[in-house]
Amino acid sequence: MENYDIAVIGSGPGGYVAAIRSAQLGYKTVIIEKYDTLGGTCTNVGCIPTKALLDSTHHYAEAHHQFRQHGIITDKVELDFSQMYKRKSEVVVKNTDGLHFLMNKNKITHLKGTAEFINNSTIKIVNGTESKEITAKNYIIATGSKPSSIPGVEIDKKRIISSTEALSLKEKPQSMVIIGGGVIGVEMASIFSRIGTKVTILEYADHLIAAMDHELGKTLQKILRKGSVDIRLNQAVYKAESSDSSARVFFKDKNGAEDQLEAEYVLVAVGRMPYVQGLGLENTNVEIDNHGFIKVNANNQTAVSTIYAIGDVIGGAMLAHKAEEEGVFVVETIHGKKHPIHYNRIPSVVYTWPEVASVGYTEEYLKKNNIAYNVGKFPFSASARARASMDTDGFAKVLVDPKYGEVLGVHIIGARAADLIAQGVIAQEYEVTAEDMFRISYAHPTYSETLKEAYLIASGQGAVNI
Ligand code: FAD
Ligand code: NAD
Repeated sequence: MENYDIAVIGSGPGGYVAAIRSAQLGYKTVIIEKYDTLGGTCTNVGCIPTKALLDSTHHYAEAHHQFRQHGIITDKVELDFSQMYKRKSEVVVKNTDGLHFLMNKNKITHLKGTAEFINNSTIKIVNGTESKEITAKNYIIATGSKPSSIPGVEIDKKRIISSTEALSLKEKPQSMVIIGGGVIGVEMASIFSRIGTKVTILEYADHLIAAMDHELGKTLQKILRKGSVDIRLNQAVYKAESSDSSARVFFKDKNGAEDQLEAEYVLVAVGRMPYVQGLGLENTNVEIDNHGFIKVNANNQTAVSTIYAIGDVIGGAMLAHKAEEEGVFVVETIHGKKHPIHYNRIPSVVYTWPEVASVGYTEEYLKKNNIAYNVGKFPFSASARARASMDTDGFAKVLVDPKYGEVLGVHIIGARAADLIAQGVIAQEYEVTAEDMFRISYAHPTYSETLKEAYLIASGQGAVNI
């Protein structure tokens, strides 16, 4: 029987990063993936293909709505939907190929098949009619998550679809109802509304992207509405039905008033659930919680000390970079050196346009916990860089401790917020003050200057006007 130091189950951002770090530290490493390609949800049907389509549709929308103002006249802007999807798939292949290359380069054994524990120390890998058993000194479960639904709504993958099916449509949908105004809901709404699909979002909460600072969701709502997305808040969907050519969704508001909508597709985006089917956890002492997430301790160890778990399958923020951090953390813990993860300093990004990005505490959290704070907020409409590019929607907001000036939270909705948030992460990780942040030099003109102004305002100095 083959014997490894570390066996990683699942090749998403948690798994492939763990495998690479393991090999770098000299461990005999195997990665097991049931699908043909490496990369998991993120690379195949998540982060990467959605960002490719978000970029393509953003260019399309700019060509339609902004080129003329820039003085660019194109005869006719047309959509080649299949080319847009083809390019998306090519981007995915470049990334999955890159991962196969990295596994070879780091001399990581890659086994294709479904891994199933047969006891606490042995797994069986089944690939079609073939199967083999291996053992490892340590296991890292990184099996990720899959779309979940709500009672009364079955994802039939034809007319009632998840984000996965939305990424392989053959034609531009004429209409789409999206259940859920969370991250997937607003990213998908952006992609399809930009190319002319009539999009409606039905959201249970009273604002979009509810887990983030509420001001972000409220501003995003106005921007998406301007982009002709129909957003209906405080609506609980309880049933969906489909026919050959459409689907119908039933919902009611907080007062019980019922309504229904029909569309070519209903896209379910109400969260994701841990993926542990077929993993054989029942043959081990590994425990799961009431929602099916694998239970781990502060070292990411399960109830079996040699079996670790990381990424979406253990819950918390379902983010690729959170899974990556945990992958490195676990391998380095096995190796005897520990760099703890500060979960509150893991940024969240929503790739709408403008982008939304956040790190640290929200205003709602600070208020609820009676933590004093100063707010510094600066609009992109006052940024010279944003005016030049016609990206004047949004703001940068920083929350700062009034006594010591420590940065408590950074929340941005605006052009390139996804990249700007990195400096908020640094500010918080190294516990620097708002004054430290405004004393450093920011290139002019850049979107980053909105943050400098926000730090100045939070420190009581007032903006210096860009
Ligand atoms: P996954 O990426 O889910 O990978 C798990 C892998 O394990 C899969 O390949 C699966 O086939 C395999 N597997 C499962 N069981 C077995 C088994 N028994 N044997 C062998 N293999 C097995 N996050 C971001 O940070 N940024 C984004 O922009 C972003 N965009 C997203 C867009 C969409 C549409 C979706 C759905 C998600 C997005 N996410 C994004 C979330 C991100 O994809 C996940 O947080 C991330 O993929 C989790 O990584 P993971 O390694 O835990 O698991
Ligand atoms: P989510 O938790 O972000 O949003 C789900 C939304 O559905 C919530 O706002 C909830 O109120 C709503 N909802 C639930 N039941 C409902 C009902 N019956 N009727 C109406 N609305 C209802 O989940 P998601 O958008 O599916 O995303 C799943 C995960 O994928 C998230 O954890 C997210 O972090 C990750 N993801 C991240 C990115 C990114 O980082 N850019 C992109 C996509 C997905």
